[in-house]
Amino acid sequence: MQSTETIFSFSDLALSAPLLQAIREIGYEIPTPIQAVSIPPLLDGHDLLGQAQTGTGKTAAFALPILNNIDTTRREPQALVLTPTRELALQVAEAFQSYARHLPDFHILPIYGGQGMDTQLRQLRRGVHVIVGTPGRVMDHMRRGTLSLGGLTTLVLDEADEMLKMGFIDDVEWILEQSPPDRQIALFSATLPEVIRKVAKRHLRDPKEAKIENKTVTVEAISQRYWPVTGTNKLDALTRILEVEDFDAMLIFVRTKIATEELAEKLEARGYSAGALNGDMSQVFREKTIERLKKKTLDIMVATDVAARGLDVDRISHVVNYDIPYDAEAYIHRIGRTGRAGRKGNAILFVAPRERRMLGAIEKATRHRIREMRLPTREDIAERRVEQFKELVMNTLEAQELSFYREFVQKLGKEQNLAPLDIASALTFLAQKDRPLIPAEKSSYAEHYDDGRDARRHVDRSDRPERGGEKRERPHRDYAERSDRPDYGGEKRERPPRDFDSAGTLYRIEVGRNDGVAPKDIVGAIANEAGISGKSIGHIKIYDEFCTVGLPADMPPQTLQRMERIFIMGKPINITLWTGEAPHDTYAKRRIYPPKREE
Ligand code: AMP
Repeated sequence: MQSTETIFSFSDLALSAPLLQAIREIGYEIPTPIQAVSIPPLLDGHDLLGQAQTGTGKTAAFALPILNNIDTTRREPQALVLTPTRELALQVAEAFQSYARHLPDFHILPIYGGQGMDTQLRQLRRGVHVIVGTPGRVMDHMRRGTLSLGGLTTLVLDEADEMLKMGFIDDVEWILEQSPPDRQIALFSATLPEVIRKVAKRHLRDPKEAKIENKTVTVEAISQRYWPVTGTNKLDALTRILEVEDFDAMLIFVRTKIATEELAEKLEARGYSAGALNGDMSQVFREKTIERLKKKTLDIMVATDVAARGLDVDRISHVVNYDIPYDAEAYIHRIGRTGRAGRKGNAILFVAPRERRMLGAIEKATRHRIREMRLPTREDIAERRVEQFKELVMNTLEAQELSFYREFVQKLGKEQNLAPLDIASALTFLAQKDRPLIPAEKSSYAEHYDDGRDARRHVDRSDRPERGGEKRERPHRDYAERSDRPDYGGEKRERPPRDFDSAGTLYRIEVGRNDGVAPKDIVGAIANEAGISGKSIGHIKIYDEFCTVGLPADMPPQTLQRMERIFIMGKPINITLWTGEAPHDTYAKRRIYPPKREE
């Protein structure tokens, strides 16, 4: 087995230039441990038995070698990925699409039960290079003769233990038996129960094993908590935590270089002194940033694992795992940046529902139960602001020479016949105008703290004329449906008019009431995944099969691309401009930007 230590960058792996370019653009810095041990043997054509769970980067571990070896001039399925659920099939297909962005003419097709056969048949006839599907539907197509595996070179079993749990293992074996004898097989599974081992033994030829060993370590000096990501978007949650946690310096971990910059910028816009630390920065600049953290001109650093390796700054009191690490070892490295020099450290981990298993792995490796935390409420924040204000008043009284101001207040009281208490109340209000002691109930927290650029854009656009003046039914004027958004923060003030009526555009997303979606899921996903502020998300109207959502009319291409990759309730949202008409029926036609393949 190859050691993770030997590979430092993607360019050390023999991947083609278009793939390396895509990886650079997506912002991955180095291969995750499972990628480092899986990609080389897969590129060499070996079979592989990989023990890895969601969150480790396993998808890229098999997708990149497959894409590297695909011959796009040969329009037949060359790789088949079997997944236990349609949700995973869609996610894997999306991941392939994003890694294949510079491979012209690459076609992938997700096939799963519950989706109309016709669409799948049309796409299969047109010719695809990779199929990602659930075993039942793949078998259906093979039996009908609509899917031939004659040209297959690689077969992946993703989450094999889940396929076993769901009773698909016989189907999987049947498919394995029908595939060409010389194809390569990669089997990925979080656990390796006996049945899976037997399947591996029967069908894999001299497989390489890829497993990430988790050493157990104790991290006594660090108080560890996790927040299950639900409802509130991650940025809002972080902002609330920042308000209430007593931190000296904070180190926040994200997965990509791009995310370090985006998050640091958003925190700066909210008034924090935050900076990014990533592998793209020159050594000199990196050292300068670290120096600023030490010297207290910077309080928050948003970093990737690579950039924060070995970071030793005593005043880091908190580590926030904004994006969950790929494995327990990375977690241990990350939180080891706090609790230094005999001080107490704090670690907070954001865990999305899909990442629960990783939380378990981390607990096992650290032999430590991580406590669930609740997000600070409006009351907690009010309490904290009051405390801070009191302290400020006391310190000012103690440290400042105030005789001139005393006289001024006395004079003002006499002149205007005011009690000192009234004057003090007015001044308290003014002092805390931008940070009200009692955060208002009705508006969204994100809105109040929205970053300046967004706010400016909104004001600038508010005086634009109504677009096109089209007079169609707009079933989306429905603020009530957003009532469960995070709802505190803004003071009573003149807010710039919401601009969706004038300059916003209405989009349709393919998730609806039948999927159990709530407005908060939509706001959360769009804010988290596409980096669109809560404020920029307009009216949401939920129908049985789909929703409409108002979004800014001039979203840049990168944002649109990100929107295309969003999943809500486990479904790709397949965002399209709302035409008020029946939906198009093909996956590809619905895309908004850029049309990946023309039909
Ligand atoms: P997976 O375990 O395949 O579900 O991947 C989990 C997440 O890790 C996905 O959001 C990937 O985009 C991300 N990811 C995969 N490989 C890397 C990498 N080398 N660096 C940073 N993020 C990655």
